[in-house]
Formats: sequence, structure tokens, C-alpha cells
Amino acid sequence: MIYTSLKEIQNLLLSGELSTEQLVISYLERIETTKHLNAFIEVYDDEALNKARELDHKMKHSPDTLGKLFGCVISIKDMIVYKNHKVSAGSKILDGFISQFSGTALEAVIREDAIIIGRTNCDEFGMGSANTNSYFGPVANGADHKRVSGGSSGGAAVSVQTDSCLIAFGTDTGGSVRQPASLCGVIGFKPTYGLVSRHGLVAYASSFDQLGLMGRNVEDIDVVMTVISELDAYDATMFQTGLYDDQVIDDFNLTTIKVAYLEEAINNESLDKQIKDAFYGYLSHLTDQGVSVDKIQFPLLEYVVPVYYILTTAEASSNLSRYDGVRYGYRPEKVTTLEDLYVNTRTNGFGQEVKKRIMLGSFVLSEAYFDTYFTKAQQIRQMIKEQIHKIFEKFDFIILPTTPKVAWQVAEKPTNPMEIYLSDIYTVLSNLAGIPAVSVPLGNNIDGMPFGIQILSNVKDDKKLLHFIKHLKLA
Ligand code: GLN
Repeated sequence: MIYTSLKEIQNLLLSGELSTEQLVISYLERIETTKHLNAFIEVYDDEALNKARELDHKMKHSPDTLGKLFGCVISIKDMIVYKNHKVSAGSKILDGFISQFSGTALEAVIREDAIIIGRTNCDEFGMGSANTNSYFGPVANGADHKRVSGGSSGGAAVSVQTDSCLIAFGTDTGGSVRQPASLCGVIGFKPTYGLVSRHGLVAYASSFDQLGLMGRNVEDIDVVMTVISELDAYDATMFQTGLYDDQVIDDFNLTTIKVAYLEEAINNESLDKQIKDAFYGYLSHLTDQGVSVDKIQFPLLEYVVPVYYILTTAEASSNLSRYDGVRYGYRPEKVTTLEDLYVNTRTNGFGQEVKKRIMLGSFVLSEAYFDTYFTKAQQIRQMIKEQIHKIFEKFDFIILPTTPKVAWQVAEKPTNPMEIYLSDIYTVLSNLAGIPAVSVPLGNNIDGMPFGIQILSNVKDDKKLLHFIKHLKLA
């Protein structure tokens, strides 16, 4: 049995037609039958079953005390720490590391009786777009096993795609929730920067990182957002007001909504023809429902990828300096000097992509190049933010494709790394500007591969964004 929404599950549980234990068993069965896709690094089977039995007991004896998320089974990306559980960020360098605390958002859903089913595979430290940079091996796409899942939260996307959980926790620094969601045909949502605590996320690039959610329908994501968007003293970059629950949406009338799409985005030569056609189809669907749609110019689009990679590699080179063999996880044997310890730990512990980015980041932060690259990129980021906010003075939403192409065949892996970086063109914009963005499934190409469309809104308009999608009845 495939469960499609939390509401449906909760009704079945309350009516006694289904027990939480049966629910968890059915998810565990699907994890088992789709094991070859390599979405999970670890499955918490016993724990999840025990928690399910506890909840069944509660359901019988004190149903009033049930939390908001009873019946909600969640997978967590291997970038989110969970007390007394292993976390490795898809890397060998954290081998054997067990967390002493849980991330704030994770704690919040557990408090509301969600069940955590397992830890999902991902690109090492969230760096990648295909989930082929994981120490635990690649994740295959459930729609075609010969194709990549997308990344970096590939395991998370496939866990939802295969109905191995209802909601997946991912992290999104430059599209890692929305891109694999798009390539796997599920919804991926990245909230406003500062709306959900980053406490307990393994850091990649702190001024970009956000916890994001994947699911089958927008209502489930809405409910989980009401739980995880809460004040947290452990994250100094969080907003103090305007959190998800406080966001007010006025009466929703589609005929008052103004949407913009970016000319440069749609004219980008890497955009696949089928995705482009479907994009235009979606725009006419919007106008049919009374939404006003305008084409606008955004010349800064050509800078988003270079600026993103300069700033994120800079932040990563600093964040990842903590992995020195002393404090966390992996430590090589037989080292005699402290320098050897540092060098051997990092040489053997990090994969190639991570090493490349640490070097790039150290380069752009070096004294000789700081102003040429880092300062310049910060200035352009500021310009991007200002222009985006100007757009939102006139428009409610910006609409973009999520990815230029569908998931590629593993055998056809682009040989030029720039090609992979450039494929992030549509997703990094929202991280640079700190605004929310959601990818919803739009269709499948002739090979049956899914692709999504992306809608972005202004800072703290997360609820309005999700409600817009609800009203469109497209997801
Ligand atoms: N592809 C992007 C990168 O490699 C996505 C990263 C992310 O969002 N974690 O940096």
C-alpha cells in the first residue's frame, strides 16, 4: 500500500484501519525492495518499530496526547545530526562519528511524534549534483536505474520517490533539495534563509545552507514547516519574527497574483527543448487561471554560478578545516608527527571533489586574490539580492525551470566539471538571495524521466508560496 498524504495516514490510524506498526513495516518493506538504488546508508528498523508500538499504545490509551506529526515517517539526509546515531556527510572522514545531540528541526519533529526511519545517502559534504560523490557509492534514480538521482540529496529524493517514507529532510546550499526532487519527480522545498534552524546541519557553506523538505504533496510540507520553523538560540542567523506560523496570507485570489519569468533563463542554450515547451505550457496554465505573467530581464543571471562557486568554496574551505584527525571520526594509523596526522587524515579522508573545492576556496581567500575573487563575488551577491528584491516589489513570484535537463545516464557523465556546475544555474539564485523556492513536478520527457518547475517568492513569503501551489492544484 502506498500512502499519499499525512492526512490520509492519520485518518486510517485514528479509525483503527491501520496501526503505526503496520505503517512502519510497509515502509521498511519498500526500503528493502528498493535497496539496490542505494538511497539509505542506514535504516533504523528496530528503533522505528519500537517507536511505532509506543505510538500505537498512546493512540489507544491517551489519543489526546498525540503530537501533530503522528504517522509521519521521515528520512534524514546524512548531513543532519541525530543524537546517539552515526552521521558522516557521505564522507570517510567522519567514519565512526556518533553525534551527541540532535539538530533542532529534527528534535522538533520527534517531539511531535514523527518516526525517523533512516539516514539517506548524499554527495560528500553536500558537494555535487548527481550523488556520485558519496563515499557510500552513487544513488540510482527510481525512474531509471541507469540514471543518476541528482544531488546532493539524492538518497532523500529517492526515499520519497520510492515511497520509503512520507517526508525527507535534505539540505540545500545551491539546489540540493530542489534539483534531485525535480529529477526524481517529487516536491522539494527550500525555505527562506533564517526560517529553520541550521543547528545540527553539517556545515558546507553557512551563508547558503538551509534545511529543506521533500514530499509528495504540498500539504504535508506545510504541516512539517509549522513544526520546524521555531526560534532557536543555537542559530544566530535565524529571524526572530516572521517565522512560518506567523506568516499571514491574505485571502487568496489567483487573479491578483503577478508572476515574472526571466528572459535570460528561458533563452539559456543548455535548456532542453522538452522542458522549455513544458515551461511555456505551465505559463499558459497560469494565465488560464487568471494569474498575470510577465517576461522580465535579469542580466545578472550569467554571474550566479561563478559567484556561487567562489563564495561556497571559500566558506567550505573554512568550515571543513575542523576535520583534522583530532576531533572527529577517521584517524589514520601510524602517524608520528602532528603534521602527518593532519595531512594523512585529510588526504585519505576527503574525496576528490571536496579536496578540489577546499583548494579553490583557499585560493579565492588567499591574500593575493581575495579582492579579485572573494570581494568581487560578495559585491555581485549583494547586487543580485537587491535586484531580486526590486522584482518582488512588483511581482509575487518568479518562475524558473528547476534544471536545464533531466537526469543523465551514469555512463554519460559529463566529462567537463564546468558542465555540471553550470547545470545549477536555476537553483543557486534563491540561495544567493536567501529567498524560498520550491520545485514541483511538471512532467516527464519522452524517455519517461521526470522534471520539475521552480517557483520563488520573497523573503518570509514561504507560506504564500506553498499556498499558491495548493491553489493551482498542480502538486
Ligand atoms: N550542486 C551544488 C553544489 O555542488 C549543490 C549543493 C547543495 O545544495 N548542497 O554545490
